[in-house]
Amino acid sequence: MNNLIITRLQEELKNLSALDTIKWSIGKYGVKDVAFASSFGAEDQVITDMLIKINPNVSMFTLDTGLLPKETRDLIVETEHRYNIAVEILKPETAAVENMIKEHGASLFYESIEKRKLCCRVRKIEPLKKKLVTLKAWICGLRKEQSITRSDVQKIEWDEAFGLFKINPLADWTEDKVWKYIKDNNVPYNKLHDKGYPSIGCAPCTRAVRHGEDVRAGRWWWETSEQKECGLHVKNIKTASKRKI
Ligand code: SF4
Repeated sequence: MNNLIITRLQEELKNLSALDTIKWSIGKYGVKDVAFASSFGAEDQVITDMLIKINPNVSMFTLDTGLLPKETRDLIVETEHRYNIAVEILKPETAAVENMIKEHGASLFYESIEKRKLCCRVRKIEPLKKKLVTLKAWICGLRKEQSITRSDVQKIEWDEAFGLFKINPLADWTEDKVWKYIKDNNVPYNKLHDKGYPSIGCAPCTRAVRHGEDVRAGRWWWETSEQKECGLHVKNIKTASKRKI
């Protein structure tokens, strides 16, 4: 992807609100070629609420790794009922999960970064790849403020890892703004947020954060901040890719 194209698109979206960024995405790529990836975090619930108000026909999907907390599974059901939608659930290949566990054990993620990343690859990346190859753009709930690995998040980026555009309507939002939107619009949210979990992933890899810790401190808490990504949102690369759009 040409750098100039990305820069021009970033300039175009720079001053748009989150709502207008979502509208722009649908107008640009159409409901068939853009989809929203939700992990049912607070930011994702804000986007869901906006998306339904703009166009309920945009597809929404989530990754069910098989290790989601009960509270997240409950929220998926609650969100579907509240907005009268069916969320597409992407699951890992059963054989791939079984083989991984057979070779490395069920708690491999605690043993090394390599094994943790292997688990994320099998349970998240591979199913995601299959979905993203069908799209031209995906919408995500990333914010710059979330962690040092996300500090350069833009409203639109070229996602080199998966070969499509990534739209981050909440890139510039603060955590306070997210929660104000949730309260003002009575948006359903994960009950774990009230128990000290600002960022929620798989149950074995998420803990509550302590006062003063950053919002992603409870994810893979045994690793350093620079390593805390599962591969879904690797470095925000705005340059070349082999895939043509
Ligand atoms: Fe596996 Fe943990 Fe990654 Fe979930 S977050 S896929 S349990 S390593």
